[in-house]
Amino acid sequence: MASQLDSCTIFQCSYSELSSVSECEFGEYPNLQIHDDNKKELKTLLKRPSAASYCLGIESTADDFSVGIVSFDGKILTNVISAYVPEKGGIHPREAARHHAEVAGKVLAKAFQRAKVKPQDIHIIAFSQGPGLGPCLRTGATAARALASYLRVPLVGVNHCVAHIEIGKLVAEARDPVTLYVSGGNTLVSAFEAERYRVFGETLDIAVGNCLDVFAREAGLHQKEGMPLGAMVEELASRGQALISLPYTVKGMDLSFSGLLTAAVQLLHDEKHSLEDVCFSLQEVAFSMLTEVTERALAHTEKPEVLLTGGVAANKRLQSMLKSVAEEHKARFCMVPKQYALDNGAMIAWTGILAYQHHVTLPIEKSFVKLKWRLDEVPILWVGG
Ligand code: AMP
Ligand code: MG
Repeated sequence: MASQLDSCTIFQCSYSELSSVSECEFGEYPNLQIHDDNKKELKTLLKRPSAASYCLGIESTADDFSVGIVSFDGKILTNVISAYVPEKGGIHPREAARHHAEVAGKVLAKAFQRAKVKPQDIHIIAFSQGPGLGPCLRTGATAARALASYLRVPLVGVNHCVAHIEIGKLVAEARDPVTLYVSGGNTLVSAFEAERYRVFGETLDIAVGNCLDVFAREAGLHQKEGMPLGAMVEELASRGQALISLPYTVKGMDLSFSGLLTAAVQLLHDEKHSLEDVCFSLQEVAFSMLTEVTERALAHTEKPEVLLTGGVAANKRLQSMLKSVAEEHKARFCMVPKQYALDNGAMIAWTGILAYQHHVTLPIEKSFVKLKWRLDEVPILWVGG
């Protein structure tokens, strides 16, 4: 089966071939063998989904390339993640895309092997269509289109932020939560209202994960595989004690982290305080801001649950702050396990199934990536009435 996959032309494409495929050229790209009559064939080949039908989801919005396979009844069969770790500095979009193109074939083969599912058992292919970094999104989208075409199954474009919420609901058994989604690229508080996940509050500048990462690099820390910079800040903060005054910026329901970052970096240069105390203070201020906005959304909506997700959700201090706020409002605190809180393919596969069950599919020729696709632009057809 792996050899059958390997023979699919997409996996023999070099990075330069993959990254040079522009969105509109895709239909004509000779190596990818897109069938003109794809749509017609898809219609005739549509299989009836059952519990034994599977969706393969591809995530590639930023530094992670991941493939998940999920059954239509919500069993996660596999979730293989390959993270790009920059040699120095932050994520370089083209370098991250190069990583994704290089590992795509191996990650896909591993996913099939671990899931013990054959390619012909795949009913739909889902991919993260946005928001995210252009070159990274396009690499994942190219792989998804080629697979959908090769296997002759429908393609579904998934909003990455919606997917974080849906996988959280599935694995943490939340029904109707206020969600705090905190990652390297996103910071938002949302809840379902009138057919969409409405954004109650969001960052006005950088994401909280990005704030922690830039600060950590300024402090001379280096990211290692399996040890994100935010986790290093957390470890140092656990040994800090003194709370140093830093800018706390909540504007209405929105947040700003750039002034906080600048001030925390300034403290490093002043050398008057220990690194542990600066990390402690940075975390206390940033997480109090997030908790304040989440609490106000909770008080306003009276939702029964608080769901914490995204890479920063792994932080124990943030978890405990949110948990106590949830308890004060008699809401259940729902934690998403780390492998599904980080960017992952399983969340794309599961959201692809939900959308597909409500007749959402994407013709290959219209499957452009959407770099700035907002959470609240997506109709959530599968929730409510
Ligand atoms: P994501 O963008 O969802 O893949 O998550 C990556 C972000 O999560 C990066 O900004 C990491 O530094 C951050 N992160 C991971 N673990 C932790 C942690 N324990 N505490 C704070 N931030 C973390
Ligand atoms: Mg990531």
